Amino acid sequence: MTRIFSGVKPTGHLTLGNYLGAVRRWAQADQHRADALFCVVDLHALTVEHDPARVRRLSRQAATLLLAAGLDPALCTVFVQSHVDEHARLSYVLECTATDGELRRMIQYKEKSVRARAAGESVRLSLLTYPVLMAADILAYGTDEVPVGDDQTQHVELTRDLAVRFNQRYGHTFTVPRAARPEVGARVMDLQDPAAKMGKSHAATAGIVYLLDEPEVVRKKIMRAVTDSGTEVEYDREEKPGVANLLDVLAACEGADPGELAGAYDSYGALKKDTAEAVVELLRPVRERHAELAADPGHVDQVLREGAERARGMARPTVDAAYRAIGLLPAG
Ligand code: ATP
Ligand code: MG
Repeated sequence: MTRIFSGVKPTGHLTLGNYLGAVRRWAQADQHRADALFCVVDLHALTVEHDPARVRRLSRQAATLLLAAGLDPALCTVFVQSHVDEHARLSYVLECTATDGELRRMIQYKEKSVRARAAGESVRLSLLTYPVLMAADILAYGTDEVPVGDDQTQHVELTRDLAVRFNQRYGHTFTVPRAARPEVGARVMDLQDPAAKMGKSHAATAGIVYLLDEPEVVRKKIMRAVTDSGTEVEYDREEKPGVANLLDVLAACEGADPGELAGAYDSYGALKKDTAEAVVELLRPVRERHAELAADPGHVDQVLREGAERARGMARPTVDAAYRAIGLLPAG
């Protein structure tokens, strides 16, 4: 059976981008067709300036939202990365497989390190090595497929390179995974800055729809989305990125084609209104289920405990094999 692994970082409240680009598909398709693991990758949230209490809170909230979005522990494994030691154990060995040159070339490292420096913060070493830990997340489970949004494609490529290199040098140990991107919703853009991806850790929040935003807030954010000059509704990502983004979101909500949808609108206002309503309806069941689950944190804890137990059992043989292959003496 196909093995799937994917994760979400507790760096902020989950967004519409996270949902359309990743989580919705995990719940509606992936968990039903494969042996899937979904992880709140909390170690990755420590790569940038962070508040410990907030990361802890957001980790629980992210796990609760994954369940609210429909991940079913009877069908898939839901857990928190730091609960399973194998990730960090394997990451070190993969660091001995990667080069600093290939990590410095990662686009997200470049973007996030520039942002940190601009904010007067130092750049943590873990921001540079984070894609190696992500490779460990994936490779520890013999993963075949990694369903992610567009922004993660480069990191999955690096994971493949590391797996192939390790296998060639030390003997076959890792499955070489592939990225699987969604057909629609792979890249939801910021409503106030359609040149930038909607990202949960961004400081300016007016252009970001969070899964737990009240319906009124969702409507307001979408009605105030930056659109483009002219008045004609066309699907043109280059010339009309703001309108194209709204069409992409509406299409992803309705399972329609954005180019075809464009023909149905003769004003930006009407497009915004329908998009706002579609997003409110899309998120309604997730918010409602989240409220129920948040009232029973003991249940979420238990799901995470069982998930970590299962994940540990799956990861340990692969990580042990990697330790042996690279030359480490097994404990007697
Ligand atoms: P951060 O700003 O901290 O990087 P993020 O919003 O990019 O947060 P991640 O935890 O890095 O979220 O990514 C979780 C998943 O959501 C990944 O599969 C990623 O590809 C996907 N994703 C993130 N942002 C978007 C987006 N704007 N559109 C589509 N998919 C996205
Ligand atoms: Mg990201």
